[in-house]
Amino acid sequence: MNVPVWNPAVEFMEREALERLQFANLRNTVTWALKTPFYRRRLAEVGMTHPEDLTSLRDLRNLPYTTKDDLREAYPDGLLAVEPEQAVRLHTSSGTTGMPTVIYHTRRDIDHWTELVARCIVATGATARDVFQNMTNYGLFTGGLGLHYGAERVGMLVIPASSGNTGRQVQLMRNFQTTVVHATPSYLLHLHAALGDEGITREQLSLRKAFIGAEPHSEQTRRKIETLFGIQAYNSYGLSEMNGPGVAFECVYQTGLHLWEDAYILEIIDPRTLQPLPEGETGEIVMTTLQRQATPLLRYRTRDLSHLVGGNCPCGRGHRRLARIKGRSDDMLIVNGVNVFPSQIEDVLMKIPEVGTNYLIQLEKRGSLDRLVVKTEIYAKLFIGDPQTLDDLRERIGELLRSAILVKPAVDLHEPGSLPVSEGKAKRVLDLRPAF
Ligand code: AMP
Ligand code: ZN
Repeated sequence: MNVPVWNPAVEFMEREALERLQFANLRNTVTWALKTPFYRRRLAEVGMTHPEDLTSLRDLRNLPYTTKDDLREAYPDGLLAVEPEQAVRLHTSSGTTGMPTVIYHTRRDIDHWTELVARCIVATGATARDVFQNMTNYGLFTGGLGLHYGAERVGMLVIPASSGNTGRQVQLMRNFQTTVVHATPSYLLHLHAALGDEGITREQLSLRKAFIGAEPHSEQTRRKIETLFGIQAYNSYGLSEMNGPGVAFECVYQTGLHLWEDAYILEIIDPRTLQPLPEGETGEIVMTTLQRQATPLLRYRTRDLSHLVGGNCPCGRGHRRLARIKGRSDDMLIVNGVNVFPSQIEDVLMKIPEVGTNYLIQLEKRGSLDRLVVKTEIYAKLFIGDPQTLDDLRERIGELLRSAILVKPAVDLHEPGSLPVSEGKAKRVLDLRPAF
């Protein structure tokens, strides 16, 4: 395969040169960080008052971690490292887990970010000839403008559709022969169901690729999207604290997400001991920005869980690969003492042919015990006919889940379109257990 590439000089850089570049950029980052009261104090605590105090890349380990709480405390401008007039934009996180955090960008920061997104887009084989419909929210959320700028730089025809309004999305896709879309995986599944309702087949669309991200999803969900639409779907990982999209993306080989190591230093740590973990072990992703001037972040604890994929990607890029995000260290559910990640449940559900496109995990308290209820949509035709078939299906889903998560949930079957849909990140878990 001819490997499509945007910036060969950086994407195929030898490891040694890449690390030299990282070190130079890390020193710049510390220089910028020292301009903020927050990092001046934090760095002084570890004896660092000057970028020259860093003598090698290994010294990164002596730098303090930064947490989401730190960002919240510094809200709104405690981490701004440039004069306010140099900043040209700000974004906030979507705040699914509490108060938002804010990240500022200079013009140069936006330019670097755009370059990273362009690399990601081209790595999937998309080109200037594609028509790109961006179905994520334009606004404070980074998925809209982030992908938009990257796609324009690549030269694609960009349709800034933003999220929601499924009828209009479909109309735009048909009128302009959209070939590539960007959306959350849950929204794409919803869109597929809507096409079915309107009697539109995938042959009437020109779609060939989707960029999916912003929320945890399983390999089975990706495959389901690929099969339903007859396209390739590429996993996109990013977070507003690290700009947004453009952090890590799958290339044409879909063997893990290349993380741009000239722009970020990646560490995987044990979230309890805070010690670095060897390649292949799952832990918390920690990242340091290397290019961002307006809001530099050192060793930011993302709370996202993943591991590094060993070996080399057939595409030849040396930038290491992250495995699919397993979940967040803080979205793990504990059900009667058993740790359960929502992604494990999703993985089982999406393998079951009768299961539709939407589901909800509900936790309740029954006496002193937790009760796990998995509500899932199934195809409408299954509700016609022998009720015993539904009982059997309920039982089969319950057993499949039990063997994967060690807890047998109650299973509720729902008609298509009856469970709530969200336009942005899907809310899959409803925890009704009383707080302590
Ligand atoms: P935000 O800063 O609001 O854009 O949210 C970023 C968070 O979304 C990340 O920290 C992850 O928890 C989640 N996220 C983004 N992309 C992915 C992805 N491809 N797979 C799983 N989770 C993701
Ligand atoms: Zn690759």
